[in-house]
This record gives sequence, C-alpha cells and structure tokens, in this order.
Amino acid sequence: MDLATPLTYIKGIGPARAAMLQTKGLETVEDLLGYVPFRYEDRSNVKTIGQLAPGEMATVIAEVRATKMSGFRRRNLGLFEARFTDASRAILAGKWFHGQYLANVLAEGMKLALFGKVEFDSYAGELTMLHPEFEILSGDDEDGEAALHVGRVVPIYEGTGKLTTRAIRTFTHRILGALDPALFDDALPRFLRDRLKLPDLRTAIRDVHFPPPDCDLRLLNAFRSPAQFRLIFEEFFWLECGVALKRGKARMVPGIAFELTDQVREKIKAMLPFKPTGAQKRVLGEIARDMAEPHPMNRLLQGDVGSGKTIVAAEAAVIAIENGYQVAMLAPTEILAAQHGIYFKQILSKLGYVVVLLTGSFTAREKAQLKKLAAEGLAHVVVGTHALLEKDVEFKKLGLAIIDEQHRFGVLQRLGLLQKGVTPDVLVMTATPIPRTLAMTLYGDLDVSVIDELPPGRKPIVTRHTTSDRIEQVYSFVKKQIEEGRQAYVVYPVIEESETQAMKAAQQEYEHLSKEVFPDLAIGLMHGRLGADEKEAVMQRFKEGRTSILVSTTVIEVGVDVPNASVMVVEQAERFGLAQLHQLRGRVGRGAAQSFCILVTEKVNEAARERIRTLVESTDGFYIAEMDLKLRGPGEFFGTKQSGLPSLRMANILRDQEILEIARREAVDFVERPASAEDLKRAVTYIRDHWQRRYGLVTVG
Ligand code: ADP
Ligand code: MG
Repeated sequence: MDLATPLTYIKGIGPARAAMLQTKGLETVEDLLGYVPFRYEDRSNVKTIGQLAPGEMATVIAEVRATKMSGFRRRNLGLFEARFTDASRAILAGKWFHGQYLANVLAEGMKLALFGKVEFDSYAGELTMLHPEFEILSGDDEDGEAALHVGRVVPIYEGTGKLTTRAIRTFTHRILGALDPALFDDALPRFLRDRLKLPDLRTAIRDVHFPPPDCDLRLLNAFRSPAQFRLIFEEFFWLECGVALKRGKARMVPGIAFELTDQVREKIKAMLPFKPTGAQKRVLGEIARDMAEPHPMNRLLQGDVGSGKTIVAAEAAVIAIENGYQVAMLAPTEILAAQHGIYFKQILSKLGYVVVLLTGSFTAREKAQLKKLAAEGLAHVVVGTHALLEKDVEFKKLGLAIIDEQHRFGVLQRLGLLQKGVTPDVLVMTATPIPRTLAMTLYGDLDVSVIDELPPGRKPIVTRHTTSDRIEQVYSFVKKQIEEGRQAYVVYPVIEESETQAMKAAQQEYEHLSKEVFPDLAIGLMHGRLGADEKEAVMQRFKEGRTSILVSTTVIEVGVDVPNASVMVVEQAERFGLAQLHQLRGRVGRGAAQSFCILVTEKVNEAARERIRTLVESTDGFYIAEMDLKLRGPGEFFGTKQSGLPSLRMANILRDQEILEIARREAVDFVERPASAEDLKRAVTYIRDHWQRRYGLVTVG
C-alpha cells in the first residue's frame, strides 16, 4: 500500500462505501488521511455502570437489554428509551426525544459505547443519560479495534452517506497501521520545521487522527494542537509559496515604465477638485511607484465606501495619459459606468482629454464609432462595462486598466483584458475591506493599497432599524428631509436572478409613492431593465435635484455619488447581505449634511435582528465585512464561482488567519531568499505536483 492506493483496496471498503467516499472527493489513501476530524471527544473516562456518579461526563461500554418507544406520541415527541447493562450488572437508561428512528438502529444484545452526562432520574429511580453520543461496537470490528472508539480521545469525522464517523475512524486506523512510515515524504523544509517546532508529517497525520494520550482536548477542538497547527501551516505555506512564485513571475513580465515628471504633477494638481487626504496621497505614491517600474502594475486599491477611490484612479489616469497612453475603466454596472463616464469627463476635460463611455446598450452604430475612437487612439479614456472586454474593442495604446469593484468581476475577465496587446498596468478598486493578508491571498498576485481615512468633514451616518408596519413614520421623515432641501433613495431588494421581480416591486412602489404618499414630489425610477440612455437620464435628473426621491433596485448599490442625497431607505433589508447594506448606505453621507439610513424589515427573528444591529451600531466597513464573511462564509461572500478561492482541506481562511499570516511571511522569505537553488526547485516541483490544481495556481513555475 502507498499513498496513491485507491481506497477500494482497504479492507471493508467495497464499491458502495467507495462511492460514498467519492462524494467527498476521497479516492486514495492520501485523500482519506487528509480528511481530518472536525471535533474530538474525550472518552478516556471509561467506567462501569456501577461506578457512575450523577453529574459526571463518562463513557460506558454496555449491552442493550431492552428498548421501547413511549409516551407523548400524540404530541409527537416520540421518546425512545433503551436500558443498558454491563458486567457490574447495574442498569443505565438512555433517552432520546424524537427518537423514533432509533427503533431501527438499536436492538437487544448490541454492544455500545455510550458517552454523555450521567443524571439521576429520581422519578424513575435510575441512572440516566439524556441524548448520549453512542457508537455500536458489535458488527464488523476486528479484534482489538473496539479500543479505537472508547477509552481515549476519539476523533469525530463528518460522516458521508451511510458511512459513519466510526467507519471512517476504523479505515483511517487500518491505513495508518499498514502504511510504511517511510512513505511519508515530508516536503516542508527542515529548517522551518525546526525553527517553528513543527512535528514531522507522519507524526502530524497520526496525531491529528489519533491524538496521543497526553493531548489537550481544548487545543484540539480549537484546531491548535501541534499536529493541526503543522498541517494548517503547511497548507497555507504551499499556497503562499505558489502565490509568491506567481507574483515573482509577473514581475519579470515587461511592462510600461511611466514617468512622473513635474509636468505630470502639475497636470494632476490642475485636475484635482479638492485637497487629497493623507491616505489618498500615500496610496497614489504607491501606485505611481508601481507605474514607474518597467513591469506591469497589479495593484488592489481597498477603501471603504466614500473613502475617495475614484479621484486616485483619475490621478493614475493622468499619469498614463501624459505618458502618451490610453486608459480603460471598467465598472460592474451600466449606471456606475455612466457615472464614472460623467465624472471623468467632468474632471479630465479640463486637461483637454477625451473621455468616452461604451456600454452594452449602445446601438451597433454608436458602438462602432466609439470603438473607432479607441482604436485610433483619439479617446484617452474609455469607460465601460463588460462590453469593453469584447474581443473587438481595440486600443491603440492601452497603458492602464482600472477595474472598479473587483469582487463582481471574475479573474478570467481580468485576464481577458490583460491579453489586449502590451501588458498594461492594472489597478483594481474594491470597497470590500478585507484583512490585508486575506486580500493578498485571495487576489493572489495583487499588491494591496489601503485608503484608511475618510475625506474631512464627514458626519457619521445615523442608521435606524424599523419594521414595515411603521413605514408611515419613515415616509414623514423622508418628507421632512426633502423639505429641508435634501434628497432620498428608496431601495428594493434584488436577488440577482430575479431582477424582473424586483423591478416590478420597485415599479409598484414608485406608483404608490408618487400617487399616494408624495403626490407633490418628483420621483425617479431606476432599475436594471432600463436602457443605458434612460439610466443615465434618470441618474442625471436625480443628480441635478430635479427629482427628490429615487426609487431603485440594487443597481445603485455600488459607486453612485450624489452628495445632496441624505436619506437611504432600504426595504426588506433582511434580504441583503451586510456588506451589501453597507454599500447601499454608502450612497448617502457624501455631503456636509447629516445623513440617515433606515433599514426596514418585516418582523424578523433574533438572528436577523442581530445582523441588522451590526449595521446600526457600526459604520466601519472593515468590521462589517468581517462579520459578513463570518456569517456567510467566504464562498458566498465572494461569490464562489468567480472568487478564485483556493479550496483548502484543513485550513480555514477565517478561523486560521493568524496562521495564514505566519505562513505568508515564511513563504515570501523562502521564495525570495531560498537557502539554495536546489531547495526552491524542489519546492516548485512539489507544489506543481501536489497543490497546483487544487489552488488554481495555473501558472506556477
Ligand atoms: P468611493 O471610494 O466610494 O468610490 P468616491 O471616490 O465616490 O468614493 O468619493 C466619495 C465622495 O467624496 C465623492 O463625492 C468625492 O468627490 C468626495 N471626495 C473624495 N476625496 C475627497 C477629498 N480628499 N476631499 C473632499 N472630498 C472628497
Ligand atoms: Mg467608487
């Protein structure tokens, strides 16, 4: 047997069980060894029933004497009771509510290990365990294997199909017993293991499945035993080595060395409509330094909503244009593209630059004309949505690509853009502030800049939660704000696939508001089904204050900038993710006036109220993004399909952030300053063979 041996060769794993294992992606011996317990139970305190004392947690090994379903049947509680006995001849009762299913599981004469809290049932006058954990010991056990499941700290695995934790434990044990220890080839560099005091691979794998007698249960269940630490570290280490290698390679690609001369500086100064914040200046410095390198920039610009990323992008654009290059700016929605188009036109036309907007809903003729401007180099900046990525959009001399709100674009699309001609510099902007290490890992080859300061004079937005039965109060508040000269948004939820439905809801609300609630006010309606022109017109009217209220679906979620709008009403707020609500809220609070965000929900449960409370109590996008990540998990948070999230086996990118940071430091150090070329070569080969496919590090080495 070796690590590549198919699991069907293991005694007890036939075709049926192999199929169940396969649903978890477990096909080889190595796969199963990598399938680690998610929890551990201390069953070392094994007693006879006669020795049990009320109040203690204990394990007993006992035989089923009798079983019955009893009582409460009308209330559907289905109490299942079993009586157990052992060599001490004492009796222990086990009770399970909703236990009907156990009638087919437990039968007289079976031998069980029971684990739970011992209680004394004074009514029945007997020792009882309520809902004990149990494992059936009789069955397909080999001699001696019963000792695997009791009398020690026992690993608990996630079962799969009808395959129980106990079966998995048995197979893992058989494998570890049969496998020649010499087959564990520990690829983790020796010096690292020594310095960080990590156990060797074979020890780590053995201990993670079968913890040694002196182990610390608390550490185990926190995923911090030495064995777990080593395996988590290792997984991150190779991932980060892969990322570092990829970055190193990207740095070798020839790119454009933009010059930041005094003349360019003058142009930037002439363009700026206000004094940049310290954070904006620092970040522009980082960007300009990257742009000056003769290699393509790949930088992620993080900044909370309203932190002023757009102007930084505009500054970078000036550098590119003054060096004789064109700039492409990509936005996730047409509205945002239109807005960036307007904004860039406004601030860049001062410098005599030509800015054009190119989106999917232009006519073929319009598109053809705009494309011509891009291809002939007459347009300095081309702003657009995905349409820009169509193969036939050509630039004469593309130097810089700015991608706004990255988390909505797939990595592949990013690549599509890069493939146009010479490798341009890329600046990706996102308002989802996630921890730096996480960002560098998730976005792989991107360097990260952070704007961690809001423009001066911002008053924190006041956020309130209310329920839909009190909507009249919300309306009168909105009315008052409008009378004071402000404007308001009213937003309807849209779950991506049902934009039509949301559009209908928004439409209805629009009619309701304009006919019944605010008959005297001008109200605009915005949704995804409007053509690009219409969207632009609706937005423009709102921007100019000709409409007081904008009823919208979440198409306005990102980027929309109307400083005079001071109220954001979000209907059915319980249907949004926290990060999304924070984005929506970021549409207000952009001017000098005090702004308000009102989150309206139906009557919701405590968990949902708790979620909403996060927003009421915090305006820190960093904190909110982290809460959202925790609540929804990275997959959903980033949108699994396009996230490029590496699939990790044991490590958890949220739980294990501090290990990720250590691993990252070590990996960068290892790749940039390898002890020997041989060391590095071995690592590259190892990553390619073992991790590349899983991590999606397509081009390592
Ligand atoms: P985001 O980072 O969300 O894209 P924007 O770039 O849209 O933020 O900026 C938000 C608002 O703040 C805009 O109205 C912008 O003009 C304004 N702003 C940005 N930077 C500054 C600054 N340094 N001083 C004053 N206002 C600023
Ligand atoms: Mg923005």
